[in-house]
Amino acid sequence: MTVDIQSNSKEADVKNTGFNVEEKSSSSRVLERNVKDGSNLMSPETGQYLSNNNTDVIENPIISVKNFDFSYGNNKVLHDINLDVPEKEIVAFIGPSGCGKSTLLRSMNRMNDLVDVANYEGEIIIRDQNIFDPALDVIGLRRRVGMVFQKSNPFPKSIYENVIFGLRIIGENRKSFLDETVERCLRSAALWDEVKDRLHESAFGLSGGQMQRLCIARAIANEPEIVLMDEPCSALDPVATVKVEELMLELKKNYTIVIVTHNMQQASRVSDRTAFFYLGELVEYAKTERIFSNPSNPKTEDYISGRFG
Ligand code: ADP
Repeated sequence: MTVDIQSNSKEADVKNTGFNVEEKSSSSRVLERNVKDGSNLMSPETGQYLSNNNTDVIENPIISVKNFDFSYGNNKVLHDINLDVPEKEIVAFIGPSGCGKSTLLRSMNRMNDLVDVANYEGEIIIRDQNIFDPALDVIGLRRRVGMVFQKSNPFPKSIYENVIFGLRIIGENRKSFLDETVERCLRSAALWDEVKDRLHESAFGLSGGQMQRLCIARAIANEPEIVLMDEPCSALDPVATVKVEELMLELKKNYTIVIVTHNMQQASRVSDRTAFFYLGELVEYAKTERIFSNPSNPKTEDYISGRFG
């Protein structure tokens, strides 16, 4: 389903009028409307708001960000973000440095709780639960929503112990289960063949690309539903980058992936949908093919064509 709109801001007098609804098939419609900047839209089909330039209706999203604002002290870095992430897709966040991409990503598993001056309003719903609910088990959330960082961060332990680190923490000690988990996760991370003969050697002996895949294996060992990746390839050479990108495409069969990337080619190669952020606002969010071929917003076009950022 595609919706061609140009909208950009917060509150709007939303009516189901003014849409040109063209029946494409029983399950798919194209809604077209030129909208001046400053309005939100509501889908006449679902009643869902298509705000902040969300240009698709996403049924049953696994992550739903709603009216989300975020500040570090007095510095407001995210403004009224609304964005739905479909299950088992890869969503890329792009935009110039400092526009809030990592902040939003880190909010999705409450990593920002570790920052004293952080304040937020709005909701992030994961599988129908607001992750800011005071009753939520944050450790459990971080198991369900794993994270891979820009710089790989293996622990000073063996390859084997790195993979099962999270399981050890929850007291898992059954050797056969741990052995199986190590093999399964290293295979999933496309690393097994390279390390199977040195599982008990230090993880620090691996190359940068291997360390990053080890961190992905460690994230998978917790059996997350969602994997957040914050510029996972920015410290890697092109060959290692290709391996991690191939791995992402393989992983999306089982996991939902949200990735922050500064690499436009990477976003276009791996992601199903792309969100373009600028100065803390979500300027446009749509299928990746559309963002890179026919963006609705001139700012998106300027950014992807390298005119700024
Ligand atoms: P991006 O990922 O798009 O580069 P970030 O989310 O990292 O953007 O940063 C958004 C803004 O928030 C920037 O101005 C950055 O300096 C600020 N910021 C990020 N992390 C912190 C922090 N821990 N404390 C204070 N300000 C921060």
